[in-house]
Amino acid sequence: MVKKNISRRSFVKGLAAGTASLAMPFNDHKAEASDTSELVTLLDLSRCIGCGECVEACRTVNGHKFPQPQKPFPEMVPKGRAKVEDWSDRREVDDRLTPYNWLYIESVEVEYKGVVHEINIPRRCLHCQNPPCANLCPWGAAEKQQNGIVRIQPDVCLGGAKCRTVCPWHIPQRQTGVGLYLRLLPGFAGNGVMYKCDRCYDRIDKGELPACIEACPESVQKIGPRREILNEVHNIIHEKGWFAYGLEENGGTNTVYLSPVPFELLDAASRKGPGLPGLNKVDAAMEDEENLAAAVAIAPFAGLVAGMIKAGRFVSSKLGKQEK
Ligand code: SF4
Ligand code: SF4
Ligand code: SF4
Repeated sequence: MVKKNISRRSFVKGLAAGTASLAMPFNDHKAEASDTSELVTLLDLSRCIGCGECVEACRTVNGHKFPQPQKPFPEMVPKGRAKVEDWSDRREVDDRLTPYNWLYIESVEVEYKGVVHEINIPRRCLHCQNPPCANLCPWGAAEKQQNGIVRIQPDVCLGGAKCRTVCPWHIPQRQTGVGLYLRLLPGFAGNGVMYKCDRCYDRIDKGELPACIEACPESVQKIGPRREILNEVHNIIHEKGWFAYGLEENGGTNTVYLSPVPFELLDAASRKGPGLPGLNKVDAAMEDEENLAAAVAIAPFAGLVAGMIKAGRFVSSKLGKQEK
């Protein structure tokens, strides 16, 4: 078993000792992958009982970030230009990813070496080290922070869903009728805002644990500096012959799953479809020539992104005040 969670006290101490950058706001979205400043979450799947406390905690703690769409939705021009995606009447759905559910539990039964294993797998954004969602967002709305958190800024996102297209697991989920596009050209540009796990960045900034980690009665997850967590992962693989997911996938992620059962079996037994990411082998998306070329093409606009973010927030706040 993975050792008990890093306690709140030691997590806060770690923040103060060596990771002052954790409290920094967004940085250049091409932030370099780093073993010293990035935080990794480690999930020991042998411990998870599938109780769903983490899912509930995520929804409660992050509820204020969930979309509050305006209806009726603006008509698209040309008609049907973008698919309306509305989860606002299905907020209770918790068995897949939605704009109102950033974490779900996939429960599978697999046989390995003659033993049947019931494995529960908490699923959410993996916070990739080289995230295509951030590198290829045309508006700079998705960003990777120095502490490894990949966030989508709701007041900048136009809901074009490029992030979902390029994410190997198609994680971000769209809600129509909310966000900046309503204030710009609602019929012609955008279609809402994309949502996903933000790893409780605001709690981490305050030295607190992500809600799902704190709520778990079985200490399934822990979070810590990348080098420290990876050392532990490699020790466990060596000592127990377990399997890891997230070390190589998409070139490496800041989420690592450990399992006594091969991930090929877990993937084969998992549900697949929209909002249901698999556990398949995934090549590094940003090594793909087309994606690299797109990232290079977007790069000249990097200087504009900060201005756009500020402008977007300014427009939103001004118009918001006028409407009150
Ligand atoms: S709270 Fe812990 S044990 Fe319960 S489902 Fe979540 S990760 Fe698994
Ligand atoms: S898992 Fe998908 S949404 Fe999350 S950081 Fe990676 S590419 Fe982005
Ligand atoms: S880290 Fe925070 S936002 Fe992400 S799944 Fe856990 S509780 Fe939800």
